[in-house]
Parts: sequence; structure tokens; C-alpha cells
Amino acid sequence: MNPAPPDATVAAPDLTALLDLADPSRNAPAAEAAEAARRASALALERRSMLEAGRAAAWLCGHLFRLGRLVATRQQALQALPLLERSELRPERCETLRLLTLASSETAAFDLALDAANRLMRESAESPAGGDPGLALTAAYALAVCFERMGDSWQAMRLMSEAMAEHGKQAPLRERLIGANAVCALTLGTWHRVRDVDSAAVRAALLDRASAGAEEALGILTQVREPTYEVAVRGNLGEVRLHQGDIATARILLDQAHQLAMAGGLAAHGWRIEASRGAWLLSQDRPEEALAAMTAVLGDMSAAEGTPPVSTEIRVRDVAYRACRAMTWHEAALAHFEVVERLERQRTVAQLRALSSVFVTRTEAAQARRQAERQTDEARAEALRQQHRAAEFARSAEQDVLTGLANRRHFERRIEEMLATAAEQGRPLALALLDVDHFKRINDGFGHAAGDAVLTGLAQLLRENMRGVDLLARLGGEEFVVVLPDTPLSQACEVCERLRERIEQRSWPDLPGLGSVTASIGLALTPPYEARTLLQRADEALYAAKGAGRNRLTVATT
Ligand code: GH3
Ligand code: MG
Ligand code: MG
Repeated sequence: MNPAPPDATVAAPDLTALLDLADPSRNAPAAEAAEAARRASALALERRSMLEAGRAAAWLCGHLFRLGRLVATRQQALQALPLLERSELRPERCETLRLLTLASSETAAFDLALDAANRLMRESAESPAGGDPGLALTAAYALAVCFERMGDSWQAMRLMSEAMAEHGKQAPLRERLIGANAVCALTLGTWHRVRDVDSAAVRAALLDRASAGAEEALGILTQVREPTYEVAVRGNLGEVRLHQGDIATARILLDQAHQLAMAGGLAAHGWRIEASRGAWLLSQDRPEEALAAMTAVLGDMSAAEGTPPVSTEIRVRDVAYRACRAMTWHEAALAHFEVVERLERQRTVAQLRALSSVFVTRTEAAQARRQAERQTDEARAEALRQQHRAAEFARSAEQDVLTGLANRRHFERRIEEMLATAAEQGRPLALALLDVDHFKRINDGFGHAAGDAVLTGLAQLLRENMRGVDLLARLGGEEFVVVLPDTPLSQACEVCERLRERIEQRSWPDLPGLGSVTASIGLALTPPYEARTLLQRADEALYAAKGAGRNRLTVATT
């Protein structure tokens, strides 16, 4: 933590006064409260008052989040968490983990987000006997937000609704408020995802569900004072009413939310509500005003410190795009559309990256709710077993049972990839077909098992003489294929000739009387970068090698 900047107006900073201003329950404007928290935390650290230092660091995190400074929130949370290990600071620790999840998932740092959500899940699972319904709700909420931002809105909605049904009644008002608002917000997120896809009935059902969540939250807001949620809930319900076609109510709610957001300095909420107001203007056939409003928001967002929430920027751009389209300003529409598309694509890439860890995480979520460590371990092991089985299956489908080499299926898949790469880079690629000479005589003279042993021995010999980048496969019977990427003709000939010699020189001590085994090889080179042609040419060359007396290499003539 950086020490507070020297401030001439405050000669001897008063820690108590700073803490008082920074305390979120005092509802000071976010920017002032943030500054007070920053200074309180630094001062407390200096005085070695670790409890206060931790508390103020956690509060700072919350104020930064309310200011919409998501990357700063993330950094502050990571700095604050080590100060929050003590058991007295458990509530602050959990709140910081919640904020870390939100800020990270909103800025597409999904690894961090999932990690923080899992820590919350563990805190919840470890809570004393009887459990902590408020914390259970908070943890479910954090994980649900991760899922939503990673593109799995349905899982997110299900998780949150289940948690509300299970813990909502026993949880403290604030957590219930957050939960009910989350049901609304997550359902709205799903609605946005399916708005152009699903049937009207599905969309209407989603809006009903979102509406129920917001109404429950509004009911709770008559009992607790939570200005930030006042803004969020009214903004969300306004949006729901707008999509339901209740334009008049939508307008009232959105205006209220906007005023409250401005009064509290809640920039990020303000932008989000502006996007909804823009959608409202569009519904009134007022695209010019909608576009002007969105242009202003985009200006504010780029002037603001830190990164604006991606989901908000997407919504603002989307309204701008629809406004331009309504005015048939096609070029401007396209420009906004392209930004939406780019932001969505960036988010998708980040989502895909994070997906690899989701399966185990999801399992953990379900298990942690039942507070059973043992089951978590079993689920993790089962997930691993399943992964292993899947990998095993994929391998066996592409592996030759006798020799352990790749089989024809694998060859057919890989050769296309290797050819595409070679063609792209304009590099030569060599393909050789290798067929054992008079193999039938081995079978006939020494038995089928001996024939098998020869095939296995040859496979091992070939394997030992290949580079890692080469592809070696058994195509069937006593025929093998060798693919040498990035290899010109002269070098490919050397490799094939060496293989032929080593096969001939190999002795077969386990098969007395066999003598030497030989093979013929047909070699073809790119161009063309086409598997069928290369195979055909190599086969013709192989046939020529057999005809010319076997135990030799022939290069295809193009
Ligand atoms: P050439 O030099 O012209 O290639 O003669 P060849 O005897 O090697 O060729 P041919 O195609 O006449 O015979 C191949 C034999 O390989 C026939 C088949 O029974 C045998 N064979 C195919 N698959 C296996 C296998 O998995 N194990 C064993 N032991 N023999 C096999
Ligand atoms: Mg043969
Ligand atoms: Mg053959």
C-alpha cells in the first residue's frame, strides 16, 4: 500500500475521523470515502493497528468498486486479502472475496474470479455448525456471476435461484437483497442472450422471473438503507418493465435510478442505466436522442479512470448501433456493430480459456453446498477419471492394437493438418510407404505369432529412428507410412535409406532361422499438398521397388 500523499490541510491526520468517513455504513460519497479509506489504511499500517488497516483496505475495495474502477478494485482486493486473515475480519474477508469475484469476472479475468468464488465457497462450507445462510447466498452469488460472465447464464440463474430457495428465508436482509437483485440481473442477462433466438413465450417467462426478483428486492429496500442497491434494483426493474412494454413505469424507474446514481457518484451504474434509457428512447422512435445519449456515455466512459465494465460498453454500443440503423446511417451503425462484435469475441476467447477449469469448479460448487469435503474429493477424482477415460478412448480409436503405433484413422486426420501447415509455410513435406518384403513367407514358415513379433519389432525400430515431429503409422497388414515435415528430397532419401538398412541389419534372436527381414519403400514429395495424390505416387513408387527386386527405395516420378 502506498502511503497517503502529503496533505498540507491535514496536519495530524486523525485515524478515527478517517475511519468514520471511510465506513461504508456511513454512506459518504464514494470518491471521498475511497480517499479516506486509502489514507486510513496507510496510517493504520504505519501505526501497526492491523485490525483497522485490514478493515480500511477492505472498505477501499468496496468504494473503488462502487466508483466503477474495476481493475483498481481487483488490485486493491489482492492487496487487502493478506491483511484479512484474522478471524475477526472474516466478514471483511468474505466481502473482499465477493468484490474480487465481481471485478475480475467483469474484466474477463476469469481465473482470478473463479479462484475467489471458490474461496468464498470454502469459507461458506467451513462456517460453524448450523451454517451461515448469508454467506452461503453470497458465495452462490459470486459463483453465479462467474458463470454468467463466462457465458453460462442458465447455470448462473439456476445456482442463484436454488440458493435463494434454500437460504433466502434465514439470511440477513442485506444478503437477501443482494440475492434477489442477482436473480433479476442474471435473468436479464439471459434475456439479452436469447432476445433474438428464443420464442416470445420463453422471453416473457424470463422477464416475469426477473420482475419477481426485483420486486422482492424492492420490498427488502423498504426495510434497509442501501443506496447502491436502490440504484441497481430500480435500474434493473426499469429495464424489465421496458422489455415488458410498460414504457411509462420503465421511464419513472430509470429516471429515479439515474438521479440516485448521479447523487451517489455511482458512475458505472449511471452508464448502465443510460443504456437502458437509450433503449427506452429507441422504443419511443427517438433514435437521434438515443444516439446523442449513447455518444455522451461513451465519452464519459473513455474519460473515466480505469476500464469500464465490458458488459455495459456492449449494451451502450448496441443501443448506438440500433439507433444508427433506425436512421439508416449504415456506416456509423456498422462501426458500432464492429466494436460490439470485437468485445463479444474478446470475451468469448477469455471464456473459452477459463472453461477448462469449470467442470471441477462446478462440481465443487455443488459439493461445497453440502459441506462435504469427502464428496468433493470423490467428485474431483471422478472428473479426473472421466477425463482420463475420454482421453483413453480418443487414443484407442486412433491407435493400432498390435504395434501401439498410430493407426490409419490417426494418419488421415494428422496428414491433413501437416499438409495445411506445410502449404501455409511453403515448406517441403515427404511421405514414404514402407511394405515388408515377402511377409507372407514369414507367416507361412514361422507362424502368425512370429509374423506379429516381426511387425512389433519393426514398429519399435521405426519409432526409434523418427524425429518427434515426424508421423509414423501402421496403415494395415505389413504396411507403414512415414511422414517427414519440413524435409527436402535429398534428406528424405537419406532417412528412408537409413531405415531400409537398419531393417535389413536387424537380427531376430527370438526367431531362430528367420534370417534378415527386408522392406521396400516408395517415397513421394510435395507439391502438391494433397494427401491422396502423395499416397498414390508413393504407392506407385513402392510397387516399382517391389518390381525392381525389393529391399530398395524408389522415389516417385511426378
Ligand atoms: P510383398 O513383398 O510383395 O509385399 O509380399 P508380401 O508377402 O509381404 O505381401 P502380401 O500382401 O502377399 O502378404 C501380406 C501378408 O501379411 C498377408 C497377411 O496374412 C499378412 N498379415 C496382415 N496383417 C497381419 C498381422 O497383423 N499379423 C500377421 N502375422 N500377418 C499379417
Ligand atoms: Mg509385403
Ligand atoms: Mg502389403
